[in-house]
Amino acid sequence: MKDFYEDYNVFEMALEIPEPWYVFHHELAKEEKTLHIYIEYRKGAEFSCPNCGTSGCKVQDIQDQDRTWRHLDFWQYQTILHARMPRVKCESCGKIRTVLIDWARPGAGFSMLFEHHVLSLMVEMPVAAVARKVGEHDTRLWRVFKHYVDKAVENIDVSKVKSVAMDETSRTRGHKYVTLFVDTDTKRVIFVTTGKGADVLREFCQFLDSKGVPHTQIKDFCSDMSPSFISGIEEAFPEASITFDKFHVMKMVNEALDKVRRQEQASQPELKDSRFVWLKNQENLTEKQKNKYAKLKDMDLATGRAYRMKLSLQKMFTKSAVISEMYFEEWYNWAIRSQLEPMIKLAQSLKKHKDGILRWFTTKMTNGLLEGINSLVQAAKRKARGYRSPENFIAMIYATVNKMDLIKES
Ligand SMILES: [Zn+2]
Repeated sequence: MKDFYEDYNVFEMALEIPEPWYVFHHELAKEEKTLHIYIEYRKGAEFSCPNCGTSGCKVQDIQDQDRTWRHLDFWQYQTILHARMPRVKCESCGKIRTVLIDWARPGAGFSMLFEHHVLSLMVEMPVAAVARKVGEHDTRLWRVFKHYVDKAVENIDVSKVKSVAMDETSRTRGHKYVTLFVDTDTKRVIFVTTGKGADVLREFCQFLDSKGVPHTQIKDFCSDMSPSFISGIEEAFPEASITFDKFHVMKMVNEALDKVRRQEQASQPELKDSRFVWLKNQENLTEKQKNKYAKLKDMDLATGRAYRMKLSLQKMFTKSAVISEMYFEEWYNWAIRSQLEPMIKLAQSLKKHKDGILRWFTTKMTNGLLEGINSLVQAAKRKARGYRSPENFIAMIYATVNKMDLIKES
């Protein structure tokens, strides 16, 4: 019976430490609420060479100092693993190296199981909350998180990407931005970088280059009409064509229309409180708004005319490709002669971007996909609150938006 109790070591069993390692001692430090577990390798054990993989290497020497790893808590106790690490001399490559262990990554201060535990919490709750919960400084947790995300990002397959939707999103309340590039076929975020200038396109080009993807493979971009995006695409991807996001086009129309309404409201008090009557789609109007519209539409209002221009342009996107250009030109001539300053400016701007707007009839690309992604980015922002560096925020975007399984994908 005695032997049974001596051999039966619950910690060793639960730790699943593989041979030649075994638990030779443990100590419960009650006052510091810590369980120390000491691990050792069996005498005469041989290891594989960390450099070339040759097995059967003999131990050359052993470090004086314990290495330690934070492991999963044992009930209310933090658990620390201790081991003195042997170095082996390899007969094959001649190198003397510290052996690799199964329970932690080289250089890590946490065991693999602890890291996985932290990762599973980090996808569920804000990082600051995870740090409090496990009693570690958040910078240590971010380092672990970034390691796994970087690995997973490296594994994202971009070899077949040919259509890309891009958009910027703010990362702070101020004017700091990140730009996201999404493969519209796989719907995955393939590249995120800071800024929203033309240089983000150069960075994207370099990224593809580093992956061995020629930039000529990208045939289509979808973006808003940001001049820096446009010049960046033309410069870094001269062969690609641009589709301007039709939702962005309609947003511009709504902005011009709203300007007309605001200008007219000074002389037409009936227009008060009518903002959303004109901006919302008719089917989404409330009863009250419908009544208001019914009253306003028969008055001879500039806002009413601008509104009909909006509906007309919206209708263009339901027409067939063959008549789209003619349709657009007619619409343009109408708007340009409208004598409504905001509509004239809008028409001029849209005319300048006509090719990219009408390109939609061929590619059917929109940034609608990015709308959904943007809500996930907002979730990432909440989880990454106090993220300390844009790189951490970007890592959180990759993980959240791509719904990465960090343990499997890394
Ligand atoms: Zn070797």
